[in-house]
Amino acid sequence: MEEFFYDVIIVGAGPAGLTSALYLLRANKNILILEKESYGGQILNAKEIQNYPGILSISGYDFATNLYHQVKNLSGNIKYETVLRVEKDKTVITEKNKYQANCVILATGSSHRKLNIAQEKDFLGKGVSYCATCDGNFYKGKKVAVLGGGNTAIEDALYLSDIVSKVYLIHRKSEFRADNTSVEELKKKENVIFLLNRTVVSLNGQEKLESIDLEKEKTKETIEVEGLFIAIGQEPKNEIFQNVVDLDEKGYIISEDGVHTKTKGILVAGDTRVKTLRQLTTAVSDGSIAATTAIREINEKE
Ligand code: NAP
Repeated sequence: MEEFFYDVIIVGAGPAGLTSALYLLRANKNILILEKESYGGQILNAKEIQNYPGILSISGYDFATNLYHQVKNLSGNIKYETVLRVEKDKTVITEKNKYQANCVILATGSSHRKLNIAQEKDFLGKGVSYCATCDGNFYKGKKVAVLGGGNTAIEDALYLSDIVSKVYLIHRKSEFRADNTSVEELKKKENVIFLLNRTVVSLNGQEKLESIDLEKEKTKETIEVEGLFIAIGQEPKNEIFQNVVDLDEKGYIISEDGVHTKTKGILVAGDTRVKTLRQLTTAVSDGSIAATTAIREINEKE
Protein backbone atom coordinates (compact mmCIF):
# COMPACT_ATOMS: atom_id res chain seq x y z
CA MET A 1 0.00 0.00 0.00
CA GLU A 2 1.53 3.32 -1.12
CA GLU A 3 1.19 6.50 0.96
CA PHE A 4 0.60 10.00 -0.44
CA PHE A 5 0.17 13.45 1.13
CA TYR A 6 -2.14 16.22 -0.10
CA ASP A 7 -3.34 19.62 1.13
CA VAL A 8 -6.95 18.50 0.65
CA ILE A 9 -8.61 15.21 -0.22
CA ILE A 10 -12.13 15.51 -1.61
CA VAL A 11 -14.32 12.42 -1.33
CA GLY A 12 -16.88 12.48 -4.16
CA ALA A 13 -16.77 13.98 -7.66
CA GLY A 14 -20.30 15.33 -7.90
CA PRO A 15 -21.07 19.05 -8.30
CA ALA A 16 -20.11 19.84 -4.68
CA GLY A 17 -16.80 17.94 -4.78
CA LEU A 18 -15.79 19.20 -8.23
CA THR A 19 -16.62 22.79 -7.26
CA SER A 20 -14.41 22.44 -4.18
CA ALA A 21 -11.67 21.09 -6.45
CA LEU A 22 -12.02 24.04 -8.84
CA TYR A 23 -11.62 26.59 -6.03
CA LEU A 24 -8.72 24.72 -4.40
CA LEU A 25 -6.83 24.28 -7.67
CA ARG A 26 -7.24 27.95 -8.48
CA ALA A 27 -5.66 28.65 -5.05
CA ASN A 28 -2.72 26.38 -5.99
CA LYS A 29 -3.55 23.70 -3.46
CA ASN A 30 -2.35 20.16 -3.95
CA ILE A 31 -5.51 18.06 -4.02
CA LEU A 32 -6.84 14.58 -4.68
CA ILE A 33 -10.41 13.74 -5.60
CA LEU A 34 -11.55 10.20 -4.79
CA GLU A 35 -14.62 8.87 -6.59
CA LYS A 36 -16.03 5.35 -6.49
CA GLU A 37 -18.09 5.45 -9.71
CA SER A 38 -18.04 8.21 -12.31
CA TYR A 39 -17.73 11.99 -12.05
CA GLY A 40 -20.93 14.04 -11.98
CA GLY A 41 -23.03 12.36 -9.29
CA GLN A 42 -26.82 12.51 -9.41
CA ILE A 43 -26.93 15.53 -11.73
CA LEU A 44 -25.88 13.21 -14.57
CA ASN A 45 -29.46 11.86 -14.47
CA ALA A 46 -31.07 15.26 -15.05
CA LYS A 47 -32.31 15.49 -18.62
CA GLU A 48 -32.47 19.26 -18.56
CA ILE A 49 -31.48 21.86 -15.97
CA GLN A 50 -33.44 25.09 -16.29
CA ASN A 51 -33.10 26.55 -12.80
CA TYR A 52 -29.36 27.18 -12.63
CA PRO A 53 -28.88 30.97 -12.59
CA GLY A 54 -27.26 32.32 -15.75
CA ILE A 55 -27.73 29.17 -17.82
CA LEU A 56 -30.92 29.01 -19.89
CA SER A 57 -30.87 25.26 -20.31
CA ILE A 58 -28.26 22.52 -20.11
CA SER A 59 -28.36 18.74 -19.74
CA GLY A 60 -27.08 17.25 -16.49
CA TYR A 61 -24.48 15.34 -18.48
CA ASP A 62 -23.16 18.49 -20.18
CA PHE A 63 -23.11 20.42 -16.90
CA ALA A 64 -21.16 17.68 -15.11
CA THR A 65 -18.79 17.19 -18.05
CA ASN A 66 -18.04 20.93 -18.33
CA LEU A 67 -17.29 21.07 -14.61
CA TYR A 68 -15.12 17.95 -14.87
CA HIS A 69 -13.12 19.53 -17.73
CA GLN A 70 -12.72 22.77 -15.76
CA VAL A 71 -11.08 20.69 -13.02
CA LYS A 72 -9.02 18.55 -15.41
CA ASN A 73 -7.80 21.68 -17.26
CA LEU A 74 -6.28 22.81 -13.95
CA SER A 75 -4.59 19.39 -13.67
CA GLY A 76 -7.09 18.14 -11.09
CA ASN A 77 -6.18 14.67 -9.90
CA ILE A 78 -9.14 12.25 -9.79
CA LYS A 79 -8.66 8.65 -8.72
CA TYR A 80 -11.46 6.15 -9.09
CA GLU A 81 -11.16 4.33 -5.77
CA THR A 82 -13.70 3.45 -3.10
CA VAL A 83 -13.05 5.05 0.27
CA LEU A 84 -13.28 2.53 3.09
CA ARG A 85 -12.42 4.73 6.06
CA VAL A 86 -11.39 8.23 7.13
CA GLU A 87 -9.41 8.62 10.33
CA LYS A 88 -9.41 11.58 12.77
CA ASP A 89 -5.86 12.44 11.66
CA LYS A 90 -7.17 12.88 8.07
CA THR A 91 -5.84 9.58 6.77
CA VAL A 92 -8.10 8.33 3.98
CA ILE A 93 -8.00 4.61 3.28
CA THR A 94 -9.29 3.19 0.01
CA GLU A 95 -9.32 -0.39 -1.19
CA LYS A 96 -6.02 0.35 -3.00
CA ASN A 97 -4.12 3.05 -1.12
CA LYS A 98 -3.67 5.11 2.00
CA TYR A 99 -3.67 8.90 1.66
CA GLN A 100 -2.98 11.68 4.15
CA ALA A 101 -4.14 15.30 4.01
CA ASN A 102 -4.34 18.50 6.01
CA CYS A 103 -8.04 18.61 5.32
CA VAL A 104 -10.73 16.25 4.01
CA ILE A 105 -13.95 17.40 2.33
CA LEU A 106 -16.75 14.83 2.40
CA ALA A 107 -18.91 15.45 -0.68
CA THR A 108 -20.40 12.01 -1.18
CA GLY A 109 -23.90 13.12 -2.17
CA SER A 110 -26.63 10.53 -1.96
CA SER A 111 -27.80 7.39 -3.77
CA HIS A 112 -31.14 6.27 -5.20
CA ARG A 113 -33.55 5.12 -2.51
CA LYS A 114 -34.52 1.49 -3.00
CA LEU A 115 -38.11 0.31 -2.80
CA ASN A 116 -36.96 -2.71 -0.76
CA ILE A 117 -39.35 -5.14 -2.39
CA ALA A 118 -38.78 -8.77 -3.38
CA GLN A 119 -37.14 -9.21 -6.82
CA GLU A 120 -36.08 -5.52 -7.00
CA LYS A 121 -32.41 -6.59 -7.09
CA ASP A 122 -33.04 -9.58 -9.38
CA PHE A 123 -34.74 -7.42 -12.01
CA LEU A 124 -32.11 -4.64 -11.93
CA GLY A 125 -31.11 -4.16 -15.56
CA LYS A 126 -33.90 -6.57 -16.54
CA GLY A 127 -36.80 -4.17 -16.10
CA VAL A 128 -35.94 -2.26 -12.94
CA SER A 129 -34.04 1.01 -13.33
CA TYR A 130 -33.25 4.06 -11.22
CA CYS A 131 -32.25 6.26 -14.17
CA ALA A 132 -34.64 7.09 -17.00
CA THR A 133 -32.14 9.11 -19.02
CA CYS A 134 -29.61 6.24 -18.83
CA ASP A 135 -31.95 3.34 -19.60
CA GLY A 136 -35.02 4.87 -21.27
CA ASN A 137 -33.89 3.94 -24.78
CA PHE A 138 -33.98 0.22 -23.96
CA TYR A 139 -37.77 0.53 -23.67
CA LYS A 140 -38.52 2.19 -27.02
CA GLY A 141 -42.16 1.47 -28.00
CA LYS A 142 -42.79 -0.54 -24.80
CA LYS A 143 -44.99 0.02 -21.74
CA VAL A 144 -43.25 1.22 -18.58
CA ALA A 145 -44.12 2.55 -15.13
CA VAL A 146 -42.51 5.33 -13.13
CA LEU A 147 -42.84 5.30 -9.35
CA GLY A 148 -42.72 8.48 -7.24
CA GLY A 149 -44.25 11.91 -6.86
CA GLY A 150 -41.23 14.22 -6.76
CA ASN A 151 -39.53 16.22 -9.51
CA THR A 152 -37.40 13.27 -10.57
CA ALA A 153 -40.41 10.99 -11.14
CA ILE A 154 -42.35 13.62 -13.08
CA GLU A 155 -39.31 14.53 -15.21
CA ASP A 156 -38.59 10.85 -15.82
CA ALA A 157 -42.19 10.26 -16.91
CA LEU A 158 -42.04 13.28 -19.24
CA TYR A 159 -38.79 12.05 -20.74
CA LEU A 160 -40.03 8.48 -21.19
CA SER A 161 -43.36 9.55 -22.69
CA ASP A 162 -41.46 10.63 -25.84
CA ILE A 163 -39.75 7.25 -26.18
CA VAL A 164 -42.10 4.50 -24.97
CA SER A 165 -45.68 3.59 -25.97
CA LYS A 166 -47.26 4.10 -22.54
CA VAL A 167 -46.14 5.42 -19.15
CA TYR A 168 -47.97 4.63 -15.91
CA LEU A 169 -47.10 7.21 -13.27
CA ILE A 170 -47.61 5.50 -9.92
CA HIS A 171 -47.65 7.56 -6.72
CA ARG A 172 -48.70 6.67 -3.20
CA LYS A 173 -50.58 9.95 -2.68
CA SER A 174 -52.82 12.17 -4.80
CA GLU A 175 -50.66 15.25 -4.13
CA PHE A 176 -47.23 15.72 -5.70
CA ARG A 177 -44.03 17.13 -4.29
CA ALA A 178 -42.99 17.99 -7.84
CA ASP A 179 -43.39 21.50 -9.25
CA ASN A 180 -46.94 22.08 -10.44
CA THR A 181 -45.84 23.22 -13.91
CA SER A 182 -44.16 19.87 -14.60
CA VAL A 183 -47.16 17.92 -13.31
CA GLU A 184 -49.49 19.95 -15.56
CA GLU A 185 -47.17 19.35 -18.52
CA LEU A 186 -47.26 15.60 -17.83
CA LYS A 187 -51.07 15.61 -17.61
CA LYS A 188 -51.17 16.86 -21.23
CA LYS A 189 -49.33 13.75 -22.48
CA GLU A 190 -51.80 11.37 -24.10
CA ASN A 191 -49.75 8.24 -23.42
CA VAL A 192 -49.35 8.91 -19.67
CA ILE A 193 -51.76 7.33 -17.20
CA PHE A 194 -51.76 8.52 -13.59
CA LEU A 195 -52.27 5.75 -11.03
CA LEU A 196 -52.51 7.61 -7.73
CA ASN A 197 -52.93 6.48 -4.11
CA ARG A 198 -51.34 3.19 -5.06
CA THR A 199 -48.33 1.26 -3.84
CA VAL A 200 -46.26 -1.32 -5.69
CA VAL A 201 -46.60 -4.62 -3.83
CA SER A 202 -44.85 -7.09 -6.15
CA LEU A 203 -42.75 -7.40 -9.26
CA ASN A 204 -43.52 -10.34 -11.53
CA GLY A 205 -41.73 -12.08 -14.37
CA GLN A 206 -39.57 -15.07 -15.27
CA GLU A 207 -36.21 -13.88 -16.63
CA LYS A 208 -37.20 -10.20 -16.70
CA LEU A 209 -39.95 -7.90 -15.50
CA GLU A 210 -43.33 -8.61 -17.11
CA SER A 211 -45.85 -7.00 -14.76
CA ILE A 212 -46.27 -5.31 -11.40
CA ASP A 213 -48.98 -5.64 -8.78
CA LEU A 214 -50.38 -2.49 -7.23
CA GLU A 215 -52.54 -2.02 -4.17
CA LYS A 216 -55.12 0.67 -3.52
CA GLU A 217 -57.08 0.44 -0.27
CA LYS A 218 -56.54 -3.34 -0.15
CA THR A 219 -57.72 -3.76 -3.76
CA LYS A 220 -55.07 -5.31 -5.98
CA GLU A 221 -54.51 -4.72 -9.68
CA THR A 222 -51.84 -5.90 -12.10
CA ILE A 223 -50.38 -3.79 -14.88
CA GLU A 224 -48.26 -5.24 -17.65
CA VAL A 225 -45.01 -3.30 -18.03
CA GLU A 226 -41.54 -4.22 -19.18
CA GLY A 227 -39.87 -1.42 -17.25
CA LEU A 228 -40.22 0.08 -13.78
CA PHE A 229 -38.34 3.32 -13.15
CA ILE A 230 -38.05 3.82 -9.40
CA ALA A 231 -37.73 7.54 -8.57
CA ILE A 232 -38.55 7.71 -4.87
CA GLY A 233 -35.81 10.02 -3.70
CA GLN A 234 -32.27 9.81 -2.46
CA GLU A 235 -30.52 8.63 0.68
CA PRO A 236 -26.99 9.19 1.95
CA LYS A 237 -24.39 6.48 2.58
CA ASN A 238 -22.36 7.87 5.46
CA GLU A 239 -22.07 4.90 7.84
CA ILE A 240 -18.34 4.54 7.09
CA PHE A 241 -17.70 8.08 8.37
CA GLN A 242 -19.39 7.59 11.75
CA ASN A 243 -16.05 7.60 13.60
CA VAL A 244 -15.41 11.21 12.53
CA VAL A 245 -18.86 12.81 12.00
CA ASP A 246 -22.28 12.82 13.64
CA LEU A 247 -25.22 11.66 11.54
CA ASP A 248 -28.90 12.60 11.86
CA GLU A 249 -31.63 9.93 11.98
CA LYS A 250 -31.69 9.74 8.17
CA GLY A 251 -27.91 9.33 7.88
CA TYR A 252 -27.03 12.87 6.74
CA ILE A 253 -23.88 14.48 8.19
CA ILE A 254 -24.55 17.06 10.89
CA SER A 255 -22.72 20.36 10.61
CA GLU A 256 -23.48 23.26 12.95
CA ASP A 257 -22.40 25.92 10.46
CA GLY A 258 -22.98 24.01 7.20
CA VAL A 259 -19.32 23.22 6.59
CA HIS A 260 -17.47 21.95 9.70
CA THR A 261 -18.07 18.49 11.16
CA LYS A 262 -17.27 17.50 14.73
CA THR A 263 -13.71 16.57 13.66
CA LYS A 264 -11.22 19.37 13.05
CA GLY A 265 -10.11 19.43 9.40
CA ILE A 266 -12.97 17.24 8.17
CA LEU A 267 -15.46 19.37 6.26
CA VAL A 268 -18.71 18.49 4.50
CA ALA A 269 -20.33 19.80 1.31
CA GLY A 270 -23.42 19.11 -0.78
CA ASP A 271 -26.40 16.77 -0.53
CA THR A 272 -24.72 14.51 2.02
CA ARG A 273 -25.11 17.03 4.85
CA VAL A 274 -28.19 17.99 6.83
CA LYS A 275 -29.75 20.91 4.95
CA THR A 276 -33.11 22.29 3.92
CA LEU A 277 -32.64 22.41 0.14
CA ARG A 278 -30.80 19.86 -2.00
CA GLN A 279 -30.34 21.42 -5.41
CA LEU A 280 -27.50 21.94 -7.86
CA THR A 281 -27.23 25.58 -6.75
CA THR A 282 -26.86 24.62 -3.08
CA ALA A 283 -24.36 21.83 -3.88
CA VAL A 284 -22.00 24.16 -5.76
CA SER A 285 -22.46 26.80 -3.06
CA ASP A 286 -21.42 24.24 -0.43
CA GLY A 287 -18.46 23.15 -2.56
CA SER A 288 -17.12 26.69 -2.84
CA ILE A 289 -17.62 27.40 0.88
CA ALA A 290 -15.88 24.15 1.92
CA ALA A 291 -12.93 24.93 -0.38
CA THR A 292 -12.47 28.49 0.81
CA THR A 293 -12.78 27.33 4.44
CA ALA A 294 -10.10 24.69 3.81
CA ILE A 295 -7.82 27.23 2.08
CA ARG A 296 -8.16 29.67 5.00
CA GLU A 297 -7.53 27.03 7.65
CA ILE A 298 -4.54 25.50 5.85
CA ASN A 299 -2.99 28.95 5.27
CA GLU A 300 -3.47 29.83 8.96
CA LYS A 301 -1.54 26.68 9.92
CA GLU A 302 1.37 27.42 7.56
P1 NAP B 1 -38.21 13.62 -3.51
O1 NAP B 1 -38.55 15.03 -3.83
O2 NAP B 1 -37.73 13.27 -2.14
O3 NAP B 1 -39.51 12.77 -3.83
C1 NAP B 1 -39.56 11.40 -3.57
C2 NAP B 1 -40.93 10.89 -3.95
O4 NAP B 1 -40.94 9.47 -3.78
C3 NAP B 1 -42.05 11.46 -3.08
O5 NAP B 1 -43.17 11.70 -3.87
C4 NAP B 1 -42.32 10.34 -2.08
O6 NAP B 1 -43.65 10.24 -1.72
C5 NAP B 1 -41.99 9.11 -2.90
N1 NAP B 1 -41.52 8.02 -2.07
C6 NAP B 1 -40.53 8.03 -1.14
N2 NAP B 1 -40.35 6.81 -0.61
C7 NAP B 1 -41.27 6.00 -1.21
C8 NAP B 1 -41.58 4.63 -1.10
N3 NAP B 1 -40.91 3.83 -0.26
N4 NAP B 1 -42.57 4.14 -1.87
C9 NAP B 1 -43.24 4.93 -2.74
N5 NAP B 1 -42.99 6.24 -2.90
C10 NAP B 1 -42.00 6.77 -2.15
O7 NAP B 1 -37.09 13.00 -4.50
P2 NAP B 1 -36.68 13.42 -5.99
O8 NAP B 1 -37.86 13.53 -6.85
O9 NAP B 1 -35.61 12.46 -6.38
O10 NAP B 1 -36.03 14.85 -5.81
C11 NAP B 1 -34.92 15.03 -4.92
C12 NAP B 1 -34.57 16.52 -4.86
O11 NAP B 1 -34.04 16.93 -6.14
C13 NAP B 1 -35.78 17.40 -4.61
O12 NAP B 1 -35.37 18.50 -3.84
C14 NAP B 1 -36.19 17.84 -5.99
O13 NAP B 1 -36.93 19.05 -6.01
C15 NAP B 1 -34.83 17.98 -6.66
N6 NAP B 1 -34.96 17.85 -8.11
C16 NAP B 1 -35.10 19.00 -8.79
C17 NAP B 1 -35.23 18.95 -10.16
C18 NAP B 1 -35.36 20.25 -10.90
O14 NAP B 1 -35.41 21.29 -10.24
N7 NAP B 1 -35.44 20.25 -12.22
C19 NAP B 1 -35.26 17.72 -10.83
C20 NAP B 1 -35.14 16.55 -10.09
C21 NAP B 1 -35.00 16.64 -8.70
P3 NAP B 1 -44.35 11.25 -0.66
O15 NAP B 1 -44.54 12.53 -1.38
O16 NAP B 1 -45.60 10.54 -0.33
O17 NAP B 1 -43.39 11.32 0.48
